[in-house]
Amino acid sequence: ADTVTLPPVPSVPGDAPVPSRAAALEADAVSAWFGDRKVLDRVSLAMPAREVTALIGPSGCGKSTFLRILNRMHELTGTASLAGRVLLDGSDIYDRGRRITHARREIGMVFQKPNPFPAMSLYENVLAGLKLGGIRAGKDAKDDLVEECLTRAGLWNEVRDRLRQPGGALSGGQQQRLCIARSLAVRPRVLLMDEPCSALDPTSTRRVEETIAELKAEVTVVIVTHNMQQAARVSDSCAFFLAEQGTPGVIVEHGPTATVFGSPRDPRTADYVNGRF
Ligand code: ADP
Ligand code: MG
Repeated sequence: ADTVTLPPVPSVPGDAPVPSRAAALEADAVSAWFGDRKVLDRVSLAMPAREVTALIGPSGCGKSTFLRILNRMHELTGTASLAGRVLLDGSDIYDRGRRITHARREIGMVFQKPNPFPAMSLYENVLAGLKLGGIRAGKDAKDDLVEECLTRAGLWNEVRDRLRQPGGALSGGQQQRLCIARSLAVRPRVLLMDEPCSALDPTSTRRVEETIAELKAEVTVVIVTHNMQQAARVSDSCAFFLAEQGTPGVIVEHGPTATVFGSPRDPRTADYVNGRF
């Protein structure tokens, strides 16, 4: 029922853009299972407002699962269950009575593979999230919102003259920035990014990194990346996830990015950030 019952939401004002307000996100003793297999064990992590938090660690240690828990996507997998709490500015997004659509509107997600609607125009792609978020807007407000979101995603100058072209006509890097613009249209307070640059060339990667740097003033960003240089460039703090020999994923180390990379406490962190496993 959650996906069909849209909460009442104010419409987007046409004249005065409402800046989104970055929020603190906090995972408190989050454990996760697929069936009876535990994949995360009591993971606690504070992701402060106006900062970029990077999640690093080898494949299979639960980073994507953790990210999906942060916006209630985990519960969509039939076999999945979880324990613990996720607090957005102190209130639990899993509280009974709190709708899944509400969490989705406040906490957006961008995936590894750019997934714009390929046949839909750029314009409609940006607005596609509004309906999901239960937001209504008039034509002028929509035009303003499309420009604003494409600008924030660093794509406006490249596409302003071809908003009616299909999303599928863009390059991979442009498609990813289009997806970022789409996720911004509902004015999320948090943006989760799961390896957003893994499918992109170096130039597009830099563009997305520039976008992240600009976004963090207004949006709390959590990014999973396998690119250590990228983590070092974009993040303020860094959490190293590890799942050793069939044990569930845990955070081995978390701290300011400069510390995690420059003088890690745990030898396993040092090995990982220096490419030794
Ligand atoms: P990462 O993103 O760090 O590579 P994932 O969160 O994707 O790790 O996966 C963590 C563990 O959970 C892995 O062992 C993976 O096989 C398992 N897993 C992920 N998704 C599912 C699923 N839908 N069903 C069953 N197991 C899953
Ligand atoms: Mg993953």
